Amino acid sequence: MTVTLEEIEAAHSRIAGKIEQTSIVASASLTDSEGSPVHLKLEHRQVTGSFKLRGATNAITLLTPEERRRGVVTMSTGNHGKALAFAACREGIRTIICMSSMVPSNKVEAIRSTGAEVRIIGASQDEAEDEVYRLVEAEGVRLISPFDDAAVIAGQGTIGLEIAHAIPRSPLVLVPLSGGGLAAGTAIALKASDPSARVVGVSMERGAAMKASLDAGKPVRVEELPSLADALGGGIGLGNRLTFQLCKDLLDDVMLVTEDEIAGAISHIYRVEREVVEGAGAVGVAALLSGKVKPDGPVVAVLSGRNIDMASHNRIVGLHRTPTEGPPRLVYPL
Ligand SMILES: *Cc1c(COP(=O)(O)O)cnc(C)c1O
Repeated sequence: MTVTLEEIEAAHSRIAGKIEQTSIVASASLTDSEGSPVHLKLEHRQVTGSFKLRGATNAITLLTPEERRRGVVTMSTGNHGKALAFAACREGIRTIICMSSMVPSNKVEAIRSTGAEVRIIGASQDEAEDEVYRLVEAEGVRLISPFDDAAVIAGQGTIGLEIAHAIPRSPLVLVPLSGGGLAAGTAIALKASDPSARVVGVSMERGAAMKASLDAGKPVRVEELPSLADALGGGIGLGNRLTFQLCKDLLDDVMLVTEDEIAGAISHIYRVEREVVEGAGAVGVAALLSGKVKPDGPVVAVLSGRNIDMASHNRIVGLHRTPTEGPPRLVYPL
């Protein structure tokens, strides 16, 4: 089982009108500091605040009439749950979201307010997952995985189509990486359109499950640790069906960034690019600013979400002045 360019193109027409086709903009400051053209895919401006609405909408649109009647369930670190709830509830489909107590309360409230049922189970995503399987058995609801689902991967892959269309010459695309649905879908679409394109996954050092699994040659568990990139937490599933193999085959590299680098990137994106992103959405820019990725041609960083608690955001941008910003300068006349 796999996902093809044709399925991603079909997903693009299927979800058109239900999602935002977000802009891709040049970053003057990063282009300057990196010495190569750097673009930002402003996917944090997607409806619900993350790209997850693309995959969720594609999966909901593909349900059978019987599945629509019974409802859907998922485990989520927040953004997939929010997106699935939005996509399903707007069509009147029952939605149950199981999550761990690690999920920030702003995300929990955002999901409840869409009309979904929220169940908070245990302190890890794995425990939330057990509850999902129980509900699938007991209530006949359909599981929509946040990443390990062909319809979800095809939906996320529509980002790759939009990038290939905007930057037709062999870009290096930096994609935030957790379960790998975004990275796999983007890589399938991009590489089918432009074989010289490269896709690099970026995760946080604290609890990078896909990186650990790729290194081990099979899906492995990692300890879940608090991180500014909370949307990148959680495992890839020991029984991973699709994304482990796809990431293994299609990603050119996987990079890890530190908490400090993530904070610096959130701050840069706010102070210089004038955008609010969450930690997971900032990791591509963190990889550039830290020098861990050295571009040799056009680069696109996917800003994947903006669902950050604003008190944390204020604290981070207050603490981190970025080198590119320089000291305050007054130019007269004011
Ligand atoms: C889910 C998520 C990711 C990672 O996506 P995967 O498909 O799980 O790799 C990155 N950024 C944000 C904001 C997310 O919500």
